[in-house]
Amino acid sequence: MNEQDILAIQALLATPKKIAIIPHRNPDGDAMGSTLGLYHFLLRNHHFPVVVSPNQFPDFLAWMPGSETVEIFENNKKKVSKILEEAELVFTLDFNALHRVGEMENVLNTLKVPFVMMDHHQSPDDYAVVTFSDVAYGSTCEMLYHFICSLGKKSQIDKTIGTCIYTGILTDSGSFRFPKTTGTTHRIIADLIDLGVENSQIPALLFDNSSFDRLQLLGRALQNMKIFPEHKTTYTTLTQKELDQFNFIKGDTEGIVNYGLSIKGIVFTAIFIENAEEKIIKISLRSQGDFDVNLFARAHFNGGGHQNAAGGKSELSMEETIIKFENLVRTLKI
Ligand code: 5GP
Ligand code: MN
Repeated sequence: MNEQDILAIQALLATPKKIAIIPHRNPDGDAMGSTLGLYHFLLRNHHFPVVVSPNQFPDFLAWMPGSETVEIFENNKKKVSKILEEAELVFTLDFNALHRVGEMENVLNTLKVPFVMMDHHQSPDDYAVVTFSDVAYGSTCEMLYHFICSLGKKSQIDKTIGTCIYTGILTDSGSFRFPKTTGTTHRIIADLIDLGVENSQIPALLFDNSSFDRLQLLGRALQNMKIFPEHKTTYTTLTQKELDQFNFIKGDTEGIVNYGLSIKGIVFTAIFIENAEEKIIKISLRSQGDFDVNLFARAHFNGGGHQNAAGGKSELSMEETIIKFENLVRTLKI
């Protein structure tokens, strides 16, 4: 954050305010970690914050401190619209285009109060009075740590805030593996451990929390995988029928896409997940190295994200989506 942004934030936070803090739809560990971390920070600074999520967060994040206070737009649109309309300041975290909140965008578009964006995706939209946007960071949670330090309030980062920040850094870095994991990332993690953050417990809460059904669903996705060795690509699919068969709940498909990269020589992978209710195929894309899945998602599947992790969607059927994808793969020179 530059000096001007810091001064602008300090001015916005100079008096206690009702503040709405918003993650993207289908919030992940970084979206929940950054919004809840900011929530606890603003509480300590005598504000009246509320985290407003466009839809339900996954069960594997329900242990996070403050998650019980999160208001879910889809569960009570009237009540949550009122909270948004009464907010004096809005923070949007871990996304940079208002359509990422889904239907809640209609309410956000009516608000006249200042917005602050904190995000690490490419190509931010221009809706905020302060746009703290930087693709160099591996997570919004790491940005939140720097944000709090820039305001001169590092001493307020305690075990609770630290737990939220740790969670987002851990999940968005693929457990400290992705290329944007820096020495600074590890120094922040070291600081957080010194504050008492439970660094061996949190990964267990996040990753060793599966149901039997979830593992069976993973097995099905692995069985469905197709490989294009000459294009260094794999992909897999899960239909709504398969999701229903294994009693899918939100979060069950998290991380499955990464298995496609674990095969030797593969640098591009995708998972296609049918959502019958929304009549879309949700797509997650991952790559290793130079192949830019953000550009691929933007060009072909109405999406975006980062160079090595992106997503998008298709309104075609699963069969048609797969034909489109396979045809694209056959043109790739990776
Ligand atoms: P995931 O595959 O885990 O859902 O998302 C990977 C990355 O791509 C995340 O940074 C996420 O924000 C971004 N992403 C996923 N889906 C979409 C989408 O439909 N549109 C855009 N712009 N970004 C997406
Ligand atoms: Mn993120």
